[in-house]
Amino acid sequence: MKKNMPLPAYVKSTIRSLNDAGYEAYVVGGAVRSWLLGTEVHDHDITTNATPEEIKAVFKDKKIIETGIKHGTVTILDRKNPIEITTYRIETGYTDHRHPDQVSYTRSLEEDCARRDFTINALCYHPKEGIRDFYGGVQDLQNFVIRCVGDPSKRFEEDALRILRAIRFAAQLGFEIEENTRQALLERMATLHYVSQERITSELIKTIGAPYFKSILKEYRPIFTLLIPELQEFSESKWEGILMNISRSPSDAEVRMALLLDGLNDAARSDEILRRLKYSNNERYILANLLENKNLPLESRIDMRKAMYHLHVPVSQYFDFRCARDTRLSRTELDATHQKILADKDCYSFKQLEVTGKDFKAMNLKGPQISAAMNACLMAVIEERIPNSKEAILEYLKEMYGE
Ligand code: ATP
Ligand code: MG
Repeated sequence: MKKNMPLPAYVKSTIRSLNDAGYEAYVVGGAVRSWLLGTEVHDHDITTNATPEEIKAVFKDKKIIETGIKHGTVTILDRKNPIEITTYRIETGYTDHRHPDQVSYTRSLEEDCARRDFTINALCYHPKEGIRDFYGGVQDLQNFVIRCVGDPSKRFEEDALRILRAIRFAAQLGFEIEENTRQALLERMATLHYVSQERITSELIKTIGAPYFKSILKEYRPIFTLLIPELQEFSESKWEGILMNISRSPSDAEVRMALLLDGLNDAARSDEILRRLKYSNNERYILANLLENKNLPLESRIDMRKAMYHLHVPVSQYFDFRCARDTRLSRTELDATHQKILADKDCYSFKQLEVTGKDFKAMNLKGPQISAAMNACLMAVIEERIPNSKEAILEYLKEMYGE
């Protein structure tokens, strides 16, 4: 069992300042979980029995950000490092299945841990006291288990977002969801309609991009078909194919979403789904670009240059998508051809073409004619029908549009 959690100096001094003023303070949640798992710790949340006003008084000489203060959270800026300090609290009510109606402060760490979602997220750490674990979180971490703190049905009833958080943590950590927690979340999944689409999608994207997404999709398919009902149209063999494709993909949420939508084979409906899920314009653009180019030939260097012309996503991401869909493609060969094109500075875009708009205007071409002519020239160069030299291109133009 690990004993000493390495803490950055600013985290230690934050805890010390609260302790010196007579308050309790612990690191809680994700940081403790990640430390015990040996994965990267991003931020250290602090939980304390000091009220927000008391926290502010302790850190009166520091920069304080009050955005979360209504919920009992004060953010302190220690030089450049933000650190969130939250008062121990009890949450009750939850008539909207998402937010507590009442939040009250408590002086008991155990009560604060009771409102947390999963045992592995209810672990606390103090540099002198070590780990505080009221709900068996350490054991669940050791057994790779996600389990609600308290009665799972009640906990999901209170806040339906926890259903997706359970699924997301399982996909990120490769943990099993404990049986009662699993049953409760499947029974309660209809309550997800109480959760805003933005929150749903943010969890969904994290889940899709997580290392163990494939197994979670397989095991919790009803949750995913609830969030994207169109997936219900897939036959069993289509599901199998998609799961295989996903198992061949890296943990990239865009590539994997494209692999899911690929099953529909319908660009307009795919975009409709992404709009409904409130994907950003940029993400919709990326997914549309992957999907519309899913069948480009990639046999030759000429094919590859054409593909590079059509793509608006990183080529490596496109290869990830293509290789996941098609086992006949060799990633090594694709990468090699792509690298050759870059190293030899092959022309595959308008800006590499050795002529400019001026040259086209000089030929008395106008408006739409210019873009058609530029396209024709670029294709002629990409297909090696003419070299990328000003002379050859102008010659080619003369033949096509000549006086
Ligand atoms: P990560 O930030 O890596 O996703 P985390 O555990 O830090 O993981 P946060 O969403 O940052 O997760 O929340 C911090 C802590 O707050 C959690 O560890 C958990 O104890 C508690 N928590 C967050 N959301 C909920 C919720 N919906 N219901 C109950 N407790 C929650
Ligand atoms: Mg966090």
